[in-house]
Amino acid sequence: MDRFEPNLRIPGPTALPPSVREAGARQMINHRGPEFAAMLERILTGMKPYFGTSSDIAMITTAGTGGLEAAVVNTISPGDRVLAVSIGSFGDRFAKIARTYGADVATIEVEWGQAADPAVVRAELERDPGYRAVLLTHNETSTAVMNPIAELAAVVREAAPDALILVDSVSGLGAVPFEMDAWGIDLVVTGSQKAWMAAPGLAMIAASERAWAAMETATAPRLYLDLRAHRDAHANGQTPWTPAIAVVFQVDEGIRLMTAEGAEHVFARHEACAAAARAGLEALGFELFADQRFASRTVTGAIVPDDLDWKAFNGEVKRRGVVLAGGQGKLTGKVFRVGHLGSVTLEEILGAMSVLEFVSIGFERPVRPGSAVAAAQVAAMESFGLVTPVAAGTGS
Ligand code: PLP
Repeated sequence: MDRFEPNLRIPGPTALPPSVREAGARQMINHRGPEFAAMLERILTGMKPYFGTSSDIAMITTAGTGGLEAAVVNTISPGDRVLAVSIGSFGDRFAKIARTYGADVATIEVEWGQAADPAVVRAELERDPGYRAVLLTHNETSTAVMNPIAELAAVVREAAPDALILVDSVSGLGAVPFEMDAWGIDLVVTGSQKAWMAAPGLAMIAASERAWAAMETATAPRLYLDLRAHRDAHANGQTPWTPAIAVVFQVDEGIRLMTAEGAEHVFARHEACAAAARAGLEALGFELFADQRFASRTVTGAIVPDDLDWKAFNGEVKRRGVVLAGGQGKLTGKVFRVGHLGSVTLEEILGAMSVLEFVSIGFERPVRPGSAVAAAQVAAMESFGLVTPVAAGTGS
């Protein structure tokens, strides 16, 4: 029986609102015509406030990883010293891309579950003044940690004023406030399948004046991913190569929905859903994986208890219509993750908690019916400012 749609609680691709799905099913258009040009303009203009930039943005048909590769090949030359600050598997991937293109990469490896420490980054930049670029992850999806990106960027700017700051915000941008210009960040990458409520296939990349200038002298080989070709084509309302038009339709609709909702509310909704997920999982007796001072607002990770048969448990969760994400890399089998980004609603989080309660009780875990749903609901209401912690009785 397949009457219901699953509650897709993975940190991307995210569930698509009905109008976004319909947009993706539209007839093709001429990507060299005025309708496409108008759509591209709407997308790039609509995204700028989320990047927090007045600089040019490029929209490339590629996965998020292609966006990271574009960041590297456009700004870095073989032999350049690069400092990669990795707090998880996507940070490792960013470093690997730089290494692949011949950069001389040093890494700061942060214990998984922790955020990067600005003081450690500063110390390394002061020890070695030769870095051309610093690679940072805004939201590390594998560990459910959100880095203090403004503080990290600030120490890089101070300690190594000439180093470019390249940021992977594939799973952060659009869901949480971001101020690329104000924070002095040079390049930011995001992906269509995350906060933008669209299918995978597009990466959006904003670059500062400094980064655009660096592209003129960087010598890594590039053609498809040459951001200058994208910027120049965008100036004529086009893309240099045939874009994933169906996904472009979807991103256009996703941004229309986000604009109608208002950025402030989009951010508040993500924050409330994150608070609900954390509170619900804790009420279910799961220990959260990340250092909660740096808890991600788009994904929450919990530790799989030693005494839980995760495969069987997750199978039952899935049978009841909730799709969770497992752990990645060295966290495979050790954590599970609940995604809450894009079109996520509080009701979807409460629904997921309800299912987890059912399954937990079925597995004879000590869970009281309604407790996780209630904890999640209270946390969300607190987050929205509708109740105070005392009034909600969470202290008892
Ligand atoms: N960076 C982060 C933080 C991500 O979460 C992801 C995907 O989950 C990527 C990079 C890679 O994106 P893609 O899978 O679209 O290549």
